[in-house]
Amino acid sequence: MASPVFRFAPSPNGLLHLGHARSALLNDALARDGGGRLLLRIEDIDPVRSRRDFETAIFEDLGWLGLEWETPVRRQSEHFADYEAALARLDALGLVYASFESRGDIRRVVAGRPGWPSDPDGAPLFPFSRSAMGAEERARRVAAGEPHAFRLDMRQAVARAVEMTGPLGWREIDAASGAAERVAADPLAWGDVILARKEVPTAYHLAVVVDDALQGVTHVVRGADLKAATSVHRVLQVLLGLPAPLYTHHALLLDAEGCKLSKSIGSQSLAALRAEGMTPAEVRRRAGF
Ligand code: GLU
Repeated sequence: MASPVFRFAPSPNGLLHLGHARSALLNDALARDGGGRLLLRIEDIDPVRSRRDFETAIFEDLGWLGLEWETPVRRQSEHFADYEAALARLDALGLVYASFESRGDIRRVVAGRPGWPSDPDGAPLFPFSRSAMGAEERARRVAAGEPHAFRLDMRQAVARAVEMTGPLGWREIDAASGAAERVAADPLAWGDVILARKEVPTAYHLAVVVDDALQGVTHVVRGADLKAATSVHRVLQVLLGLPAPLYTHHALLLDAEGCKLSKSIGSQSLAALRAEGMTPAEVRRRAGF
């Protein structure tokens, strides 16, 4: 059997913290135990938040922790053509539509609908319907240069994917015990997700499934905060004819207040801990190793 392929895929929009260290170290340990390979992928599709100095810091932090990864490192911003090709395939299946509604439009409509559901990330489900505007009208507005995103028609996408493979789900492996269970996917909980944005020809869900397949990733090991997104990833994998990796979603590290560590709340970075004199061995211990 070919050797397993793991990947750690940080976004260079801030400094890594202990939660990232847990993910990276777990990928590394599992790759080593299973005689596998470890890839590092830089997920820098967001042109506003991604920075080269953060990317450099990622390399420094991971090197300091003692990790080794294959080079060259794939940087998503250098592979937009791959994501565009995948989007074109989904479009050819009739499952993609241009959407012109701004975040403000969405907020306004949702404000008038108390109890409107949110997606698993807590954002309101897209409250407009594809059928509200004809395909010709959409094409005319795109041709006229109106800003737009491309969305997946989730109901139709799921129906098509189920037709192709039957009920959607994935195999989830418990990191500690190695036990496997089948998790049923619930992609409709996400509504019509964005596949490409006005400034960038892709979005997270599309880029991640395309890259995992292109890089031959067999084991996706990441934080539990991304578990729900796997439902969307399975739909895209089926529609694009891509293999399904095995998944492990590990528990997140919490801070003293019980909140998950995050860049946005300024959780103490690995760089800061290093500057304070913490050793890699101590980081490993605090990350649960
Ligand atoms: N780039 C994502 C993040 O930093 C992780 C993507 C993934 O592991 O699937 O949160």
